[in-house]
Amino acid sequence: MAQVQRMSRLMIKTLRDDPADAETLSHKLLVRAGYVRRNAAGIWSWLPLGKKVLDNVSRVVREEMDAIGGQEVLLPALLPKEPYEASGRWDEYGDLLFRVKDRKGADHLLGPTHEEVFTQTVKDQCSSYKDLPVILYQIQTKYRDEARPRSGVLRGREFQMKDSYSFDVSDEGLAASYALHREAYQKIFKRLGLDYRICSAVSGAMGGSASEEFLAPAPAGEDTFADCPACDYAANTEAVTFALQPVDGTVHGPAEDLDTPDTPTIETLAEHLGVPASATLKNLLVKVDGEIVAVGVPGDREVDLGKLAEHLAPAQVELVTADDFTGRPDLVRGYVGPQGLEKVRYIADPRVAPGTAWITGANKPDTHARNVVCGRDFEVDDYLDVVVVAEGDPCPACGTGLKLDRAIEIGHIFQLGRKYADTFQLDVLGQQGKPVRVTMGSYGIGVSRAVAALAEQSADDKGLCWAREVAPADVHIVAAGKAAQTELALSVADQLAAAGVRVLVDDRAGVSPGVKFTDAELIGVPTILVAGRRTAEGVVELKDRRTGEREELPVAEAIARLTA
Ligand code: ATP
Ligand code: MG
Repeated sequence: MAQVQRMSRLMIKTLRDDPADAETLSHKLLVRAGYVRRNAAGIWSWLPLGKKVLDNVSRVVREEMDAIGGQEVLLPALLPKEPYEASGRWDEYGDLLFRVKDRKGADHLLGPTHEEVFTQTVKDQCSSYKDLPVILYQIQTKYRDEARPRSGVLRGREFQMKDSYSFDVSDEGLAASYALHREAYQKIFKRLGLDYRICSAVSGAMGGSASEEFLAPAPAGEDTFADCPACDYAANTEAVTFALQPVDGTVHGPAEDLDTPDTPTIETLAEHLGVPASATLKNLLVKVDGEIVAVGVPGDREVDLGKLAEHLAPAQVELVTADDFTGRPDLVRGYVGPQGLEKVRYIADPRVAPGTAWITGANKPDTHARNVVCGRDFEVDDYLDVVVVAEGDPCPACGTGLKLDRAIEIGHIFQLGRKYADTFQLDVLGQQGKPVRVTMGSYGIGVSRAVAALAEQSADDKGLCWAREVAPADVHIVAAGKAAQTELALSVADQLAAAGVRVLVDDRAGVSPGVKFTDAELIGVPTILVAGRRTAEGVVELKDRRTGEREELPVAEAIARLTA
């Protein structure tokens, strides 16, 4: 026996207009359809219909986690500082962390993710290799003081996450636990009806599959990923790496100076010389732990400072300021070329390959040089992938032009290795009787974010449109208004519920049929059944919310169809 939810008794206030502060489609629709209510920036209440969808997502996640042998636990969200101090994250998280003091003045935090506490839990509970592998998970409220919590439940400061952690004695074990999660995630997102891509989340240099993100393409997404139209390559743009371009063997003439007055930027230079920006070499100066380093990229490319920082971490990367040029006659602002940088480390994009010739600064004011050849006139100290990936860049796997798309990160799987096990000295007694250091994986799904991602992907101009597995009901029955219509609607509702079908029935008196139809489409239950003008004949209308297809049929047939 499933539930019959009468609209006349449901706390729901639908809105015709978008809330003024809403930027994303999911934010607008989830508020308008009465699923969520904003309490403060990034802090949301789940109203009756929203709670049902959230619970449905949680159920699917739970079932698939149980299916891979995950054991559900519930750890506290309010945590003492010490474990996070031990891992360094009490400081590293900076402003993202909600910090609270208890009445005695002791520091606490609201958990943003729980690697530390799970490591401690397993250290406490498992002592032998026989106790492993273990997969633990929870579906829990997380807290992050996000800088821009603007997109509704897509990015909350309080949100629901499924986080799981695997504990193994060997690298092979970790790989197996990772593979189990990867498969479980595929099943989960398929059941939820989400369109997603699995994207490599770390640069190839760090070793392929150690971290992957599940990205749901949507314009509202804050991630950009590169997608190959020809092969199955997909990667977060931050993780795309390009190979060193092969040398083409051209012999270039000697380097020579060009008089280029007032051309401190690539645009002014390219225009002055009448060459494409791609023929020039741009040299960005940055400070790495206070020391000046030059980064060379083709003039038509931008340096991705985030990628650069990631490559050079834990060193701190900052842009140079005018003051940094004082006392450095070797650095001529706007006219820097690698051929004159003896004392400066030179990092370059792989496109600046040995044998390539460039127009670049001549290290003299108002002067550039041409035929400056890599490997002949200057050396590259390190090749790093630092350019912003652009649409049409060659796929690292097959060479086809990449497409760039916006997406929402809905899940992340990560082979952590022994980082936290080292911090907390998590060992178990191995087969040989000696202690073995445990290796870990951590895996997240944004449960509340998935609701918004589903809304983003499935909504149309009429409103939300859920897959049955997550919808707040299976069938939305609309009683057009007359007593006999309401009577039929309620009777059909009971019969369906008796057969296990979840029903929302719009039995509201004094609400026009037009408003009821509009609300039904806004709410987005997959099937709409109308007890309307042919009620007396015992004929109802069935409508597919997604396709808009309608069909009139006798009540018994409609019921048979919906309970099949
Ligand atoms: P993002 O880059 O979007 O901030 P993240 O990489 O910091 O996310 P993880 O630490 O990998 O997030 O967390 C696991 C999952 O939790 C993410 O894949 C995402 O689906 C979800 N998530 C993270 N932050 C939020 C948030 N502020 N609101 C809702 N869901 C979130
Ligand atoms: Mg992530």
